[in-house]
Amino acid sequence: LPRVAMSSCESENLVVKYSPELPSVIHGISFTLKAGERVGLIGRTGSGKSTLAMSLLRFVDPVSGRILIDGVDISSIGVNDLRSRITFIPQDATLFSGTLRDNLDPFGDHDDATCMDALYRVHLISDSPRASRGPSRGQSAAVSPLSSRPASAMGSATDVSLFSDGTDVKPVISLNTQVSAGGTNFSQGQRQLIAMARALLRRSAVVIMDEATSSVDFATDAKIQNTIRQEFTGSLLITVAHRLKTIIDYDRLVVLDNGKGWCSSRRLSL
Ligand code: ATP
Ligand code: MG
Repeated sequence: LPRVAMSSCESENLVVKYSPELPSVIHGISFTLKAGERVGLIGRTGSGKSTLAMSLLRFVDPVSGRILIDGVDISSIGVNDLRSRITFIPQDATLFSGTLRDNLDPFGDHDDATCMDALYRVHLISDSPRASRGPSRGQSAAVSPLSSRPASAMGSATDVSLFSDGTDVKPVISLNTQVSAGGTNFSQGQRQLIAMARALLRRSAVVIMDEATSSVDFATDAKIQNTIRQEFTGSLLITVAHRLKTIIDYDRLVVLDNGKGWCSSRRLSL
């Protein structure tokens, strides 16, 4: 599938308010980001990181200034069109009730093997359906060890059941696995990984991710970071980062402080 071409994302003196009587949350941020860059968006709690991310998707419109994608003011792009090209993975990524397949490929654009391969690429399953040893079309695959427990509690990660139904069956996942409303039968990190698998299938040119909180264990976090490194090359990846380790080798940083922001040049040396 061809990727939608998106080579740059610029902000010019962006000012954002949630309503006219409230003070501005972002007051005058300018930056230029390019395709293929990994950008860390950092700042204190309440500094406007999520607001900036949401502005890129027009969940909130600026009171002045503008955001340009490939030189086009996003206020002139229809919201549905815009949001179909940008993947946003929120901190508390939710899934909808239905099958895992519905969640991965809501419009039925891909065959089962491609959907399973996406789960493999985000490290949610341990065998690729494309590999000779892997499960064949439609079959279940063993889930690679994942846990929503803190790392300290992970003595033996492989015995952790994917579902909290109290059974001790070997955790399996298939495209027919039922997802409960909101995705509550998956951990926060797993929901983000599933949202990433969906992003891979959509081949989004811009992926914005609000890093999951510290409730995601180290192993899952490492998987998420590996997926980002391996799978989103060529995309513009903007990560709202809460951990320094996440952004240490990123290409660029956008730092928000009290609504003001600055953008670093390429390649940091921290
Ligand atoms: P965190 O690291 O805690 O996620 P953040 O940097 O993402 O913080 P934002 O969520 O963007 O911060 O919030 C920035 C400011 O905007 C805060 O002062 C917040 O109170 C305010 N704000 C956020 N959402 C709304 C809203 N829907 N209506 C009014 N004010 C809001
Ligand atoms: Mg936030």
